[in-house]
Amino acid sequence: MFGGAFDPPHWAHRNLAETALKQLGLDQLHILPTGQAWHKTRVLIPAEHRVAMCERAFAGLPRVLVDQREIRRDGPSYTADTLRELAAEYPGAQIFLVLGADQLLAFKTWVRWQEVLQCATLAVANRGVNIGAEAVSDSQVEQDLSGVDIPFTRLDMPLHNLSATAVRAQVQGKSRRYPDLDVLVPEGVARYISEHHLYRHAT
Ligand code: ATP
Repeated sequence: MFGGAFDPPHWAHRNLAETALKQLGLDQLHILPTGQAWHKTRVLIPAEHRVAMCERAFAGLPRVLVDQREIRRDGPSYTADTLRELAAEYPGAQIFLVLGADQLLAFKTWVRWQEVLQCATLAVANRGVNIGAEAVSDSQVEQDLSGVDIPFTRLDMPLHNLSATAVRAQVQGKSRRYPDLDVLVPEGVARYISEHHLYRHAT
């Protein structure tokens, strides 16, 4: 499974999904846009938009399913609950939880993180350290994962120092680093953002 706010989904998300499919030899990849993200203080844009953008962002990748169960579930989205459900649906399967290095470093703050480790193997991609609104720098530094004392497997993906925060800042005109949104998000996502006038105002 690969979960996230996907507010909006960007190129690093797509490349991470593609990398996981290939390097882990997955039979199926569930993309899970979160419902109520318990760890984000910012209000996310409505789920229907994030789902529609995920459909576009991950289009054309084989064996990928945009799974809306966390959106339909009442209350906060906990990965431990989602993994329990998936484990019941795929009895005997090895389940991987795909995530970026920033999330691995915060992993022990997750609700019932021990349960997550019982259900899934963490598959982690590098992420540059300068994430945030100004994030897409030319000199990129990998997160240092040497102190992490939980088991995980590494995904080998080039650094994309890119974040949804940076995409929103670009749309709001706070950053003029890129002439074209297509550099940050797949074309279908850029079109959707523009057609639906998303992210014009700060949230
Ligand atoms: P925001 O900037 O709003 O916090 P985000 O870009 O971190 O958003 P999320 O939807 O929160 O995007 O991330 C979903 C998952 O994708 C997380 O596991 C995160 O670590 C991973 N991810 C996001 N961007 C990158 C990136 N540039 N490189 C590697 N992993 C990434």
